[in-house]
Parts: sequence; C-alpha cells; structure tokens
Amino acid sequence: MSSVMITCPKTGRPVSTAIDIEPTVFRKLPRLPARMRCPACGQDHVFMTSSAWLAGEPRLVGVRRSSGSEAA
Ligand SMILES: [Zn+2]
Repeated sequence: MSSVMITCPKTGRPVSTAIDIEPTVFRKLPRLPARMRCPACGQDHVFMTSSAWLAGEPRLVGVRRSSGSEAA
C-alpha cells in the first residue's frame, strides 16, 4: 500500500492524504473528487484523483520536473 499525496493549495507543499491504496488500484481510478483534511494547513481540501500521486513514486504533475525519464 502507498499513501496518496497531493499538493496543498495553501502552502504549495506535498502532503499525505492519509489514504493508503494499492498502486495498481490507484492507476485504475477514474477521475474523482476526494476530500481530505490537510496536515499542512489544517483545512479541508477537495482534490481530483488525477492530480494526486503515490508516495515513493515519481510525480506526474507538479513543480519538480525530471526531464522525461519516467519508466512506462
Ligand atoms: Zn492545505
């Protein structure tokens, strides 16, 4: 199981949603809105599963871009 991560819109920092999911399941998720209590700023955020990523995996979206060397 891996933790689902999002970027906090208030602080711009990556935060864990405290949602654990299998990577294979995560990749099959449809684009859904989800709500979480943010540990960084204490507010509730609604995020799209398509904008989230798994802890320990390369981010598909976000600030840090590694020049296109993602394994398929
Ligand atoms: Zn936040």
